[in-house]
Parts: sequence; C-alpha cells; structure tokens
Amino acid sequence: MRRSILAPKPPDELPGEGYRKRQIAAWLYRKGARDFDEMTDLPRALRRELAQNWRIAEFELIQAFPSADGSVKYLFTLLDGKQTEAVYLPYKDRKTVCLSSQVGCPVGCTFCATGALGFGRNLSPWEILDQLLAIAHYQGIPPTEIRNVVLMGMGEPLLNLEAVATAVRRMVDKNALGMSPRRVTLSTVGIPKGIRRLGEEDLGVKLALSLHAPDDATRRKIIPTAKAYPVEEIMDAVAEYFEKTKRRVTFEYVMLKGVNDAPEQARRVARLIKDRRIVAHVNLIPFNPWEGAPVEGTSRAGIRRFAGVLEAEGIPTTIRWSRGVDVGAACGQLALKEAGPLTFHPGRV
Ligand code: SAH
Ligand code: SF4
Repeated sequence: MRRSILAPKPPDELPGEGYRKRQIAAWLYRKGARDFDEMTDLPRALRRELAQNWRIAEFELIQAFPSADGSVKYLFTLLDGKQTEAVYLPYKDRKTVCLSSQVGCPVGCTFCATGALGFGRNLSPWEILDQLLAIAHYQGIPPTEIRNVVLMGMGEPLLNLEAVATAVRRMVDKNALGMSPRRVTLSTVGIPKGIRRLGEEDLGVKLALSLHAPDDATRRKIIPTAKAYPVEEIMDAVAEYFEKTKRRVTFEYVMLKGVNDAPEQARRVARLIKDRRIVAHVNLIPFNPWEGAPVEGTSRAGIRRFAGVLEAEGIPTTIRWSRGVDVGAACGQLALKEAGPLTFHPGRV
C-alpha cells in the first residue's frame, strides 16, 4: 500500500497528539526534515510508526544543475515518472525559489519552451510545496530561509488554482513556513475568471500579469489564450485585483523583435495601466532563446529604448536580465534537459 503524503497538511491535521503535531510541523516546515529519523525529539516508537504510515518526499529522483551565476535548476521526477522543474535563486539579501504549478503547460505561447513541450498534468499541492522543501534540503538551508516564492516555473498557475492555493496557504501559515504573502508572486498569462477567483481566495499574494502586448491582434499572434480573453477584459480583472489587495501589480513583457517592441506599443501599455489607475511596474524580460524557437529577441538598445518610453510615460520599469541561462533555468527555458552532475534518489531511501 502506498503511504500517504505528510506535507503539506495543516499543522493541526498532522499525526500525533497535542504538542507532537507542533513538533512534527516544526521538523517538516521549519527545519526541513526529509526523513522521520531526523526528528530526534520524537520517541523512537512514534518515528517508526510515522515511517510506516507516512512519507515526506514526493519525488522519485531529483537532479540539480548549478549555473555559473549561483542559481540552481532542479529537475524533479515525480512518482508517476513525469517531470517538472524549479529554480533556486540566491541573491545577496534574499533567497528566492521559482516553482512550477504543472508538468509542461497547456497554453503554448510561441516564445516559451515550456509551452512547446505540451501539457503533462496538474501538480498536486504536495508536489508544488515539496519543490521548495526539497530545494532547501539540497541547498543545505532550513526552508524558512527561503523568503520569496515566484510561481513562474512550468505551467499556468491559474489553470491549477486550487492546488496552488493550498500550497500557498501552507507557505503563509504561521505554524508552517510563515512567509509573508507579499513575498509570494503568482504570474499568469491572463485568465480573467482565474484572476477574479484568486481575489476571492484572499491569499494576499502579488500578481504578475504576462501582458507581452497591449493590443489583441499582436497578443493573439504569440499567446493562444488571447483569442478567448481580450486585453481589456484581462486589464479589468487585474484592476479589480489591485483594488482588493492594494498590492502593486507587475506587468511582464518579453521583448520580441519586430513583434511587440515598437515605441507606440510602449505608449499603449502605459495607457492601459494609467486608464485604470493601477499602481504597477513593468518588468521587461529580454527573450531567452531556446532551440527551435520561432521568434527572436529585441536588441539591448531596443529594450532600453522601450523602457525609456514607459518611464517617460510615468511607469516604473525594470529590465530583468535572467539568471541561469547557461543551464536552461531562465524564464521560458524550463524544458527538461539531460541529466546534470548532481543526482539524488529520495524515493529510494
Ligand atoms: N504561465 C505563467 C507563468 C510561467 S512563465 C505566465 O505565463 O505568466 C513566467 C514568465 O516567463 C512569463 O512572464 C513568461 O511570459 C516568461 N517567458 C516565457 N518564455 C520566455 C522566454 N523564452 N524568454 C523570456 N521570458 C519568457
Ligand atoms: Fe504556459 Fe506561461 Fe509558457 Fe505561456 S509563457 S506557455 S502560459 S508557461
């Protein structure tokens, strides 16, 4: 019989009596134990019982691909053999993880390597949260040292919102990971009813909208879901989310040569934001190339010019040079490369 998975149960639903639940929660979420034998303040008999009935790791195999810039791409083989990825991004003042919500992605944007893979399946809440716990473990840090999460890995989180919301609840749960919801960012391709539902879930997370074009004609060329959801409708849902949360919204914009990088398009982006009085900032993402991509990136000078137009319109703009490009860990490159130098077999211990 397959043992049930322990994380990410809410602390009060963990096994054990009274304070034992809190002890187990602390091992699981605060100290990042991956094995019941690590839980040294539990009686040996309880540890044995837990090991018989529960398991912690949700992965069969974990492979790590360290980049020269310090970021590490993790490739997870799930218990059914499917694969997904996450990225560890250490910065001077904080440690961030980029998590996946699905195996592959059903949306299929032309510029995205994950989209080209097609759709595998939704990840469970466990598989989403365990990416963070496993990364902390293999980086040799407690999970609580990871203070920032971006849901920008494989997949469209609003197409798997229930599982994403459960995982996020455990991240912000004071008795679990205790993160600030302001430090969790959900990035979406723009699904109006999903954005509204996210508002109703009341998770308080930051919203990043992958806009990539201010007009429907251009957007439809690169994002298949744009045919179903016009820009105006998406922007209205974002405005509602902003009204509700009052959290600054990020607009992501991947710079594609000759497609969406004209100064007039920058002015239209600014108008969309200003018309709705959304407090926002724009992240321009230089295109990360991948084999077989049908699009090309805008030149550095072109990106700076576009940023200049947005700034002149009063929109705070940053250019986000991606990390981990050498190991295929950057935005839009997540597409399951060959085995790396570091391999772990958590499912076999
Ligand atoms: N599905 C969600 C989240 C995952 S993609 C979304 O689309 O928002 C995370 C970000 O990476 C998105 O803004 C996406 O547009 C961007 N991206 C995808 N492919 C890219 C590429 N090849 N180069 C740069 N950014 C890319
Ligand atoms: Fe899916 Fe986002 Fe990639 Fe589009 S950009 S294919 S929505 S992961």
